[in-house]
Amino acid sequence: MKVLVLGAGVIGTTSAWYLARAGHEVMVVDRQPEPALETSFANGGQISVSHAQPWANPGAPRKALRWLGREDAPLLFRPSTDPAQWLWGMRFLFECLPHRTRRNTANALALARYSARLLGELRAATGIRYDEQTRGILQLFFSRRDFEEACAPLALLRERGLEVREQNAAQCVALEPALAAVTVPIVGGIHAPGDESGDAHLFTTRLAESARAAGVQFRFNVSVTGIQVEAGRVGRVIIDDEAGIDESLRADAYVVALGSYSPLLLKGVGVSIPVYPVKGYSLTLPLRADDMAPHMSLSDDSHKLVFSRLGERLRVAGTAELNGYDTSLNETRCQALLSRTRELFPRIGRDEEAQYWTGLRPATPSNQPLIGRSRYPNLYINTGHGTLGWTLACGSGRVLSDIVSGKVPEIDVATM
Ligand SMILES: Cc1cc2nc3c(=O)[nH]c(=O)nc-3n(C[C@H](O)[C@H](O)[C@H](O)COP(=O)(O)OP(=O)(O)OC[C@H]3O[C@@H](n4cnc5c(N)ncnc54)[C@H](O)[C@@H]3O)c2cc1C
Repeated sequence: MKVLVLGAGVIGTTSAWYLARAGHEVMVVDRQPEPALETSFANGGQISVSHAQPWANPGAPRKALRWLGREDAPLLFRPSTDPAQWLWGMRFLFECLPHRTRRNTANALALARYSARLLGELRAATGIRYDEQTRGILQLFFSRRDFEEACAPLALLRERGLEVREQNAAQCVALEPALAAVTVPIVGGIHAPGDESGDAHLFTTRLAESARAAGVQFRFNVSVTGIQVEAGRVGRVIIDDEAGIDESLRADAYVVALGSYSPLLLKGVGVSIPVYPVKGYSLTLPLRADDMAPHMSLSDDSHKLVFSRLGERLRVAGTAELNGYDTSLNETRCQALLSRTRELFPRIGRDEEAQYWTGLRPATPSNQPLIGRSRYPNLYINTGHGTLGWTLACGSGRVLSDIVSGKVPEIDVATM
């Protein structure tokens, strides 16, 4: 079958890879000059199966209220007149109910575990390197209450076979000696030894090279401007090519993997999906050879930040802001990232070398991705991965490919 994948982020590229392996003739189109230049570009780098619990959980409304009105708040809601933002916010609150959180955590965990297994297999099969670290993730806590709240749902993760260990402050430092320099006392930590980290941009770029070698065609610098329905099916996709001229592309099946921009395109054919852009920030700090920087990937839930060592760089990423499609850098929020980094690692890198970035997470209120067929028989969707797009990429690409190929996916994901 001829399949057209819209979007060359980590989700579109993994989809294309698995579709090609399933024997399809695949073309990928993207408006950028290369793969993974939007949200998949400078994320936190974590393959965090242990972070399956979504941001929508019973403790979230209390934390959001605590941070209300602070420009540097880890979670920031900038009210707009856009009804989609309010609707998304209401649904988010609903997903904070305990039974919804349990369900969403279990679903994300299943897909994340499957995805991590496929990532390992893909790495072994292709030899792709992407500054990966396989030392696990250590989640750090700086308040007793936050630590106890985070330990409560661990039973569910353990029941499902995930190894997670509670650690005291000394054990945290023993696991990651760079923490000896922290200026704020650590209360405890949760170590997930099976978790990983790596550069999602590098991975996507290299996977695209392997996919190209396997016959996948990529067309960059083209914007998808519309989908046309003919006799109840998608008949063509309209693109604006490099010269600004409209062109139509035809295929047997179409996959929408446009991240946060997916709902805008799908709206044109009457398909509504609960995806809203949730803006996040990152800073990348080049390291010097003698820097005592962490090797293990770390999470700091009190500031909604993660720290991943990517070769000779430290990536610090996180925070969330509901502010439409704005990707501008806010000085206060950039400084908040840097000052927290300095509280934990006072003596690494140079402030003036920090590179800042923002990206829009394609988020559903439940943080569950939407993978599957739309109401049109040949239009498929793979988006809405929110905070876990890198973690869930391989599994989502494979599930999507199975669905397009008419096969039953290996795992039962609650999709669309
Ligand atoms: C600050 C931050 C930290 C994060 N940390 C982590 C983490 O540690 N671990 C983790 O698992 N996840 C993390 N994420 C989430 C993860 O980065 C995303 O879920 C993931 O990158 C989404 O991938 P995507 O392919 O769906 O979207 P994108 O990467 O945005 O890809 C969509 C593609 O579609 C293209 N496109 C859009 N519109 C059009 C159009 N009209 N025409 C043509 N092309 C178009 C874009 O150019 C883009 O290449 C983080 C996100 C952020 C913002």
